[in-house]
Amino acid sequence: MKKVYLETYGCQMNVSDSERVATALGRDGFEVTADAAGADVVLINTCSVREKAEQKLYTQVGRIRHSEGPKPIVGVLGCVAQLEGETLLKKIPGVDFVVGTRAVGRVGSILNRTLDGESEIVDLGEREDEYDWTVADTHRHSPYVAFLPIIEGCNKFCTYCIVPFSRGRERSLPASDIIRHTLELKRRGVKEIHLIGQNVNSYRPETESGLEGFAGKSAFSRLLRAVAATGIERIKFTTSFPRDFHEDIVEAIETHENLCNWVHLPVQSGSNRVLKLMKRGHTIDRYIKQIDRMRASSRDIAITTDIIVGFPGETEADFRDTVELVKYCGFDSAYIFKYSPRPGTPAFEMDDTVSAAEKTLRFLELENTHKASQHKCLERYNEKVLKVLAEGISTRTENGISGHSTCHKVVNFVGDKAVLGSIVNVKITKVKANSMFGEVV
Ligand code: SF4
Repeated sequence: MKKVYLETYGCQMNVSDSERVATALGRDGFEVTADAAGADVVLINTCSVREKAEQKLYTQVGRIRHSEGPKPIVGVLGCVAQLEGETLLKKIPGVDFVVGTRAVGRVGSILNRTLDGESEIVDLGEREDEYDWTVADTHRHSPYVAFLPIIEGCNKFCTYCIVPFSRGRERSLPASDIIRHTLELKRRGVKEIHLIGQNVNSYRPETESGLEGFAGKSAFSRLLRAVAATGIERIKFTTSFPRDFHEDIVEAIETHENLCNWVHLPVQSGSNRVLKLMKRGHTIDRYIKQIDRMRASSRDIAITTDIIVGFPGETEADFRDTVELVKYCGFDSAYIFKYSPRPGTPAFEMDDTVSAAEKTLRFLELENTHKASQHKCLERYNEKVLKVLAEGISTRTENGISGHSTCHKVVNFVGDKAVLGSIVNVKITKVKANSMFGEVV
């Protein structure tokens, strides 16, 4: 049995792709190993969103090439593979095959062809509707939590982003298939599903199949209600796009207890001028209304976001608007990034007017602002009882168990292994920026 080691960079879509590749390889008779040393095949599932992530591919292949002992077969998957195709074989000596995001369903057969002696296979998928929607079965990151892709690709073309080029146009999986997959995962003991996609709330299936009879203006809110009706214990969804984030989504969360109280809504900048340069298609006024609506909800919705600092043309005044927005919103969590130009995007052609030093200063200031407002925001969880899915052993506490709350916080508590896989009431006793501690009540 050939041993395959899979390394994954990037977003949840990539993690989900890798899980499905691993499941398929297991079915095809390969052994998927967690140990890179001793693997016969190394597959690297790449990310092209930031330069740093792309750089990791070069480092990793270099490390394999210069390591002692027999060299494994190396396959490159994911967004860098899709964008670069054949040129990767020339750029990185030591790569044996390249498989794009649209062809991940064929990794097993490509691997077999390589083992039979065929060299330098490049498969980028011929049509955009070739995405593999298979649900990961045997190789998930958790036995109790499953990622379920519902929409693939992106039509938004934000000027800084390479995803519309690497993953192609949006395609939505029919709701009837999503419901079928949810019921199957529930039957296999999964407690929590994450409906995932670059923009889940841009969900637009070609057919109403599975959505009939569910209320809501947008197809996504009807989908949420349809999935909630399966009775699976918890449903989370990410990522949401502000322009397509309608009130009916919040109303669905308020109606169905099993729709979790967490929304990831990337704002990217607090300045309307910069949002225009980014072609985000939303305004700060509208974003604040969305935040206010969620804050007023009876479900105590946790709101998280992404922000880019130092976008080309971002002035000091624009940056101040972002600082004020962060103070106003008080995010549960904010992922702040320094702008990183990606070749092939419209922003790459813009004048990068903010110096590297200035980007760093803005990044640090925004991080500090966020930490201060986050601290206040998270204090509301102190002494509160949260429902936590016990997912694994915690290294943070002795006899510890770790899991996520419905508001997607990592919670550590003392408990017996027997609780793994169940939902436990935990009273929060200590709140930190990235995790909480509590005791079972
Ligand atoms: S919405 Fe914008 S940032 Fe998100 S994947 Fe699409 S183009 Fe990229």
